[in-house]
Amino acid sequence: RSNAEKFEFQAEVSRLMDIIINSLYSNKDIFLRELISNASDALDKIRFLSLTDKEILGEGDNTKLEIQIKLDKEKKILSIRDRGIGMTKEDLIKNLGTIAKSGTSAFVEKMQTSGDLNLIGQFGVGFYSVYLVADYVEVISKHNDDKQYVWESKADGAFAISEDTWNESLGRGTEIRLHLKDEAGEYLEESKLKELVKKYSEFINFPIYIWASKEVDVEVPADEDDSSNEDESSESRSPEEESEEAADESEDEEKKPKTKKVKETTYEWELLNDVKAIWLRNPKEVTDEEYTKFYHSLAKDLSDDKPLAWSHFIAEGDVEFKAVLFVPPKAPHDLYESYYNSNKSNLKLFVRRVFISDEFDELLPKYLNFLKGLVDSDTLPLNVSREMLQQHSSLKTIKKKLIRKALDMIRRIAEEDPDESSDKEKKEEVSSKNDEKRGQYTKFWNEFGKSIKLGIIEDATNRNRLAKLLRFESTKSEGKLTSLDQYISRMKAGQKDIFYITGTNKEQLEKSPFLERLKKKNFEVIYFTDPVDEYLMQYLMDYEDKKFQNVSKEGLKLGKDAKDKELKESFKDLTKWWKNTLASENVDDVKISNRLDNTPCVVVTSKFGWSANMERIMQSQTL
Ligand code: ADP
Ligand code: MG
Repeated sequence: RSNAEKFEFQAEVSRLMDIIINSLYSNKDIFLRELISNASDALDKIRFLSLTDKEILGEGDNTKLEIQIKLDKEKKILSIRDRGIGMTKEDLIKNLGTIAKSGTSAFVEKMQTSGDLNLIGQFGVGFYSVYLVADYVEVISKHNDDKQYVWESKADGAFAISEDTWNESLGRGTEIRLHLKDEAGEYLEESKLKELVKKYSEFINFPIYIWASKEVDVEVPADEDDSSNEDESSESRSPEEESEEAADESEDEEKKPKTKKVKETTYEWELLNDVKAIWLRNPKEVTDEEYTKFYHSLAKDLSDDKPLAWSHFIAEGDVEFKAVLFVPPKAPHDLYESYYNSNKSNLKLFVRRVFISDEFDELLPKYLNFLKGLVDSDTLPLNVSREMLQQHSSLKTIKKKLIRKALDMIRRIAEEDPDESSDKEKKEEVSSKNDEKRGQYTKFWNEFGKSIKLGIIEDATNRNRLAKLLRFESTKSEGKLTSLDQYISRMKAGQKDIFYITGTNKEQLEKSPFLERLKKKNFEVIYFTDPVDEYLMQYLMDYEDKKFQNVSKEGLKLGKDAKDKELKESFKDLTKWWKNTLASENVDDVKISNRLDNTPCVVVTSKFGWSANMERIMQSQTL
């Protein structure tokens, strides 16, 4: 085209497109879901803007916030069109030519080796999945602030943009035209597209229509030559049909001139989804399967993995809202990598059914960022800016309730998991009901345990609730995970403190001289082997009125021994000698101890100082 301007894709995008276009990835269906999700995002954006500026929607068809799918079998074109916000020329260049999101490089690498495209939507590059099925794509877009443009590319490293002077005006929005590859012919079948929309895009909040063909009977004047034809075809009909038809005909013969019925194909927009939001429904009437599907659409998760848990609730009172929370089946690869830099929550905020934002930090504390879900508030005002919403007083209440519900939901994973129950009888009772829930809490803990620990550090209000969710190994856990409640139930009579030891791994800790006497006396000791555990234990002072005692620190009390005083007296000179010899810059004190069994002496750290393990961690961080 003469007015086309040429651009090269960012190297990263080019590489991604090469991989996609040559991909042997079998689930090519995902492209439709990505396009519909983009259309829905664009509609959300214009609807949001229209809250404060009514004019922005325009008039007539432009006000219809919907998605349309159309097929052209002859030209092998599948098009998806929305009346969303649209893209200016600049948007087209930026959004469909470069990738801003960090970590994409790593994703591209991973995809290249694994061939797995399931994460494409989560990486903000879903659009390019169109090249799974098309070898040439046109994006026609009209934004209120610019003219209508066409973006086009054959995935050959370059794209072109031209002012659109030949297509019909879109009014506003975007139309994506896919020129399908020969082997992608199935996407020209209406039935296939209907099935895909039903399967994957059920929870899109805007109506999705398909330009559907329909066979209708029309009456046309019958001419004599054709009557023989009709007889032939009637041979295959069932006798009932034939007699009915015969009756019809005899009636017709009396009243009207001779006509006959023929099939004709007409087209009309057929609605494919039910736009009633799942979170508005009564939780009792929503099935597990519906929640799972809803989770997949919300999380842009293309796998079949079921979420580990969900909670759907309706809050009433001063602050009214509805919410659905999910614990994903897996942690995203960068959950803790970006923990301290980003504050991105994964909750979508709606106000009275209108999508407002998915970058609303005020809804959940950082440590719960691994949850997915949405909140729909009836109390928050609609016609104010995002900044003003962020300051709204009812957000505090919403946040508080969400945390409570989230922690309840996580606790329930443990309660319903037969492997979690220490009480044998209860174990059997739980297990008969919940066999598919077996091992779910361990799975949760392996994926998100660190978040619970970070929560204990950060959230003083809920510290005790979070401590209940803590799992660890101990000298008595036999290689399995155990909890503080289980520890307490095993405590010896007269034992006041909860004992723990920190280090790099269990194998090393098992041999520690600090454990000799404790083991011999049958005390249970918790192994804390994650670097974050050292920080954790600076915040977790007690649990259920029991104090925590690091067994490598001063102050370990294993109960009084009658001989203690005697020993102390008889070794008085020796301890004095030791202390003087080592000098005060090396040790604070030298004492007779009852914590050892075979080892003659051991170095312990003071009660308020860092443990030796903490010293090690700090050193490795400064080096
Ligand atoms: P993501 O949707 O995660 O941002 P995509 O690769 O799917 O990543 O899309 C890239 C960008 O292209 C979007 O962020 C959006 O700005 C733009 N875009 C894609 N499709 C549309 C559309 N139908 N209407 C408006 N903008 C769109
Ligand atoms: Mg997208």
